[in-house]
Amino acid sequence: MGEVDDDARRKDLAALGDRVRACTLCRLHEGRAHAVPGEGPLDPPVLLVGEAPGREEDASGRPFVGAAGRVLDKALRAAGLPRDAVFVTNVVKCRPPGNRAPKADEMEACRPYLLAQIELVRPRILVTLGTSGLRSLLGPGPDLKAVRAKALRLGETPLVPTYHPAAVLYNRTLERGLTADLRKVARMLTPEKPRVRSESPRKGKPSRMTISSGGIVADPEGRILLLKRADEDIWCIPKGTVEEGESLEATAVREIQEETGLRVKLLRPLLTIHYGYYWPPGDMNYDKTVAYFLAEPVGGRLKLEGGFDASRWASRREALRLLHWKNDRDVVTKAFEILEASRG
Ligand code: SF4
Repeated sequence: MGEVDDDARRKDLAALGDRVRACTLCRLHEGRAHAVPGEGPLDPPVLLVGEAPGREEDASGRPFVGAAGRVLDKALRAAGLPRDAVFVTNVVKCRPPGNRAPKADEMEACRPYLLAQIELVRPRILVTLGTSGLRSLLGPGPDLKAVRAKALRLGETPLVPTYHPAAVLYNRTLERGLTADLRKVARMLTPEKPRVRSESPRKGKPSRMTISSGGIVADPEGRILLLKRADEDIWCIPKGTVEEGESLEATAVREIQEETGLRVKLLRPLLTIHYGYYWPPGDMNYDKTVAYFLAEPVGGRLKLEGGFDASRWASRREALRLLHWKNDRDVVTKAFEILEASRG
């Protein structure tokens, strides 16, 4: 019964997406390249409601893929909420000209789509990003400043209002507030929910390919930098997803800086590793490829991103003892072979 219900909901959600793509209910359809219905799994921990697609979203048909999307991804990562596990959509599904705010009649015309999505997707918590999401769902009353991070409700579902990631681009001081609010959302989820771990790939599940890049940062004493993930309590190596148009090298440098605060120079490639896993929140298998580089710090100060609660400069023996994943241990073994050979 559950699977039948899920299949029906998936079909209804896809049909809703088709209706949005063909919609001409308000003037915003006139200037769009693509409508952006939104995306994410059914029954997610969180459904995020932004304001409207921007230029890159309009060009791609996908939500939060531009600069604001990168801010959002970073804040989600820091809160321990993987982007793949959450559903992301907007108050209006078509880009307003010149990225102006959507008008009241446009929000009203598009609101039934948003409400239908919420009903079909069934998130545990709703998060509105910026004022438009808050007003579209709760009406013109609440002021974002006054209610920010409070757990309001839409029917039975808790609703947490926070800043829009695009606002962070204009005022970087808001980034801390956005991350703190998402962390609060993550804490609201944890009391009843067992920790989610990836599992072996499951037959018959849809599969998605992802490419990541990361690095072993070695200090002048020949030790390497390990990070401890706060959510899973395991030691690992800095890495993250390659963004559109980004090279593996640029991703490794960016991810290391975001996760550790250190600016690094890449010295050479180490290993490329492929593996597959099933991720329960997305009900999906992932085929993952990760490229690793050897790197040395050239600046910055060690300051961990929110998803990590400890770091350590480790010897070979210590690293191999602490690292949780065999793939990480293989990369570290290769790194130490090179480091030791270079010291003669
Ligand atoms: S913004 Fe919403 S209501 Fe307006 S045309 Fe696009 S999908 Fe239709």
